[in-house]
Amino acid sequence: LMRDPRKKAEDISAAYELKEKLGEGSFSEVRVAQHIRSRRLVAVKCIRKRALKGKESMLENEIAVLRRINHENIVSLLDTFETPSKLYLVMTLLTGGELLDRILERGSYTERDASRVIRQVLEAVKYLHQLGIVHRDLKPENLLYDTPLEDSKIVISDFGLSKMEDQGVLSTACGTPAYVAPELLQQKTYGKEVDLWALGIISFILLCGYPPFYDENDTQLYKQIIKAEYEFDSPYWDEISDSAKDFIAHLLQKDPEKRYTCEQALQHPWISGGAALEKNIH
Ligand code: ADP
Ligand code: MG
Repeated sequence: LMRDPRKKAEDISAAYELKEKLGEGSFSEVRVAQHIRSRRLVAVKCIRKRALKGKESMLENEIAVLRRINHENIVSLLDTFETPSKLYLVMTLLTGGELLDRILERGSYTERDASRVIRQVLEAVKYLHQLGIVHRDLKPENLLYDTPLEDSKIVISDFGLSKMEDQGVLSTACGTPAYVAPELLQQKTYGKEVDLWALGIISFILLCGYPPFYDENDTQLYKQIIKAEYEFDSPYWDEISDSAKDFIAHLLQKDPEKRYTCEQALQHPWISGGAALEKNIH
């Protein structure tokens, strides 16, 4: 880890004052911090290297990915620090909270709001795919609002699992069960298409407030996913437009070759046209 000359070995506390905790993951915690010189507030992901044992390359990967990225709907890496036990990633502070929490607060989204969120995520994912990066862990917990305002932009965070596509075939089973694409569960080779599947799941949840595939038993859940077996159940979907359902059906397409690409999804009327705007209520 120390070989990267851009990572500073000195302690982060000389430059930043670490403040309250924002979130926690298996290897890390994310805290608010204040840049001492500029008083600017940032988010710092503090990673315990010991917890990461054997997975260092995953982290190296997250850093390498973040350095290459510059998009308004993707979190920016501002700086990195390293001590013998910890690694710190300094990122833009996103103050609007997780998409998941807004879904839970509101029950579900209007079609207009859902379409707006999905369009922004699609733009960001299209950018990643053009760079040969597959995110692989798109889910509402990893989509953060920039500000608490209702019309805040949405930002993709958390690149722990993303991987350069040209490093070979992506075939490690990973990600979060409810959002995992059929080809990933079947340990077939997979690529960019897994992100569009995850966007189909997120779109579904935004519109009705529950996931398309669900079973308390993971084996049963996997069976549903592998068959791409889901329904637009009544009464929850009765008032939702055919355009929205058509959009989701093209993303929750079992065959990755038939699944929409980002470009195709962005051109769908539910995203590009007025189809969702006309449905401000449901
Ligand atoms: P993990 O890899 O452990 O899932 P994440 O990068 O997803 O870590 O961060 C965990 C949580 O910390 C997020 O779900 C979010 O609530 C919060 N968080 C992460 N990055 C930021 C950020 N840039 N600004 C504000 N909160 C953040
Ligand atoms: Mg996360």
